[in-house]
Amino acid sequence: MTDTGKVKTRFAPSPTGYLHIGGARTALFNWLFARHHGGTFVLRVEDTDQLRSTDESTRAILDAMTWLGLVWDEGPYFQAQRVEIHREMVKRLLREGKAYYCTCSPEELEEKRKTALAEGRKPKYDGTCRDRDLGPSDGAVVRFRCPEAGVTVVPDLVKGRITFNNEELDDLVIERADGYPTYNFAVVVDDALMGITHVIRGDDHVNNTPRQILLYEALGFDVPRFGHVPMILGPDRTRLSKRHGATSVMAYRDMGYLPEALVNYLVRLGWSHGDQEIFTLDELIAYFDLDAVGKSAAVFNPEKLLWLNQHYIKEYDTARLTEAVIPFWRDMGFEVPDESFARMVVQDLKSRAKTLVELAEAGRFYFSAEVEYQPEALKFLTPEVAGHLEALAEALTGFADYTKEGIETFLRRVAEERNIKLKAIAQPLRVALTGKTASPGLDEVMMTLGRERVVERIRKAVEFIAGNRT
Ligand code: GLU
Repeated sequence: MTDTGKVKTRFAPSPTGYLHIGGARTALFNWLFARHHGGTFVLRVEDTDQLRSTDESTRAILDAMTWLGLVWDEGPYFQAQRVEIHREMVKRLLREGKAYYCTCSPEELEEKRKTALAEGRKPKYDGTCRDRDLGPSDGAVVRFRCPEAGVTVVPDLVKGRITFNNEELDDLVIERADGYPTYNFAVVVDDALMGITHVIRGDDHVNNTPRQILLYEALGFDVPRFGHVPMILGPDRTRLSKRHGATSVMAYRDMGYLPEALVNYLVRLGWSHGDQEIFTLDELIAYFDLDAVGKSAAVFNPEKLLWLNQHYIKEYDTARLTEAVIPFWRDMGFEVPDESFARMVVQDLKSRAKTLVELAEAGRFYFSAEVEYQPEALKFLTPEVAGHLEALAEALTGFADYTKEGIETFLRRVAEERNIKLKAIAQPLRVALTGKTASPGLDEVMMTLGRERVVERIRKAVEFIAGNRT
């Protein structure tokens, strides 16, 4: 479809908030498309809206992209630093008669808009200043002289051919009264000068595209290819918003999602490859292309994301997973000075957790100085088991084969010696060590905690039982 090596895509966020799910998917599609075609992925921060752009949100967007692994090859470029270039281009259009100054006041325009609506007409700039040949003045804007007849065709890579009647298009403002370019103008100049070959973005921009194509042509630039990706909807099929839950990428990090899970989830919002659900990054790069992006909106499904997250937690390399979990333990107030201990904890828990938050929470008992017995676990700490536990602690102290296999044989032997079923000792032991009635295997917990902590916890449980009795 394209000459390999020449593809150049970009992600062009406006820094007016965090990186949301929809933006992240757009970034991912651009990134994958560039990677798939051996091309370049550019990051351009569109910060020309002086009032709404903040450095904080630029940082938040860059952090979120980095967290997702969407590394850009060029940039970040900042659009506001390129305003001189945009102004030059505006001058060029003015010189060539393809643009003109307009002094219609916002109030007049609003009045005309209302009249048009009241008369059932589509509001559109009426061309008052089109042929007045005005020069620059305070409060004047610059408008593009849009062709009044004919059609503009967008051969969209996702949606197919879309035809627009030029008469429907306004003489749009390209430079505001404050001397800053409007979005439609700056985006064209920057995409053209940066050599962007493919513009992949949300289909909320599809009506801007014919205007942008006319600007490319007026400026004498090559028109890139466009691919407009359908919106993401919430489960109730309205546009995904905060009402549906978290929409910020970093909120998902904070809720304990792995970036790989989110990437895998996002790519499937609108793109498919047969019925495959789980993809390695290499597979995504190999398979991703725009022809498999669907034409209809994708519905956000939090359960599927959770399912993928669980999958990735289970499959993740334990050392890396530990690095990802440690901040959650720190937030819970645990220092976690011993990383190899933390790694063993993670190994014990990774097959069951759906999120890192869940994993961190499930690991609480490993780090707590005092085991907290859950109310439903107390029934296992009865006076009858105190003697068994005591005996266990005693025997453990001198037990030579403190290994996973050894522990299992050891527990059986103690049960046999005391003439009780393994179960009768296993559950009280579990409660003594974890405070809970469900936990990873006893052998795993005992190996991870280590003999010393295990003996200490058993003794504390015995003391607890004794304390309860008196
Ligand atoms: N800054 C625009 C936005 O965030 C970019 C749109 C585009 O990709 O052209 O919506």
